[in-house]
Amino acid sequence: MPAYDPNNIFAKILRGELPCYKIYEDDKAFAFLDIMPRASGHALVLPKTPARNILDVSPDDLAHVMKVAQKIAKASVEVFAADGVTIQQFNENAGGQVVFHLHVHVIPRKIGVAMKPPASVKEAPDVLAEQAKQLAAALR
Ligand code: AMP
Repeated sequence: MPAYDPNNIFAKILRGELPCYKIYEDDKAFAFLDIMPRASGHALVLPKTPARNILDVSPDDLAHVMKVAQKIAKASVEVFAADGVTIQQFNENAGGQVVFHLHVHVIPRKIGVAMKPPASVKEAPDVLAEQAKQLAAALR
């Protein structure tokens, strides 16, 4: 497996070098909205410690990221009146991974609404800002 690249886009977001629509942060995890959501409210949860994916992350960091994903899933159901939640996590090119800092997708779902293809439509900044505000408030 290739080494972790500290210049990947999520590493830059974690270091504050690139902007994001932040929804949650604690000492070990960070979460923000996906700018090309597969469904409205699509969030990403990352460990702060560098890890490429499930193949190199520490078990403790992985467990913590999943705890945060659960919190965000519950908040999404409340904020977006979702009927369900899809959790996705991809590993290496062959596993569908595009950005190589581990992340868990938390995607609120509505009955009868199909997910968009990955990275197909960029959401409007004002929509993302408002959703991030609502989710962050529900996570406090
Ligand atoms: P994957 O590595 O396959 O799990 O997908 C990476 C995800 O990151 C995709 O859903 C993209 O829409 C999303 N993405 C890419 N760049 C950004 C960014 N700057 N901010 C938020 N999400 C992003």
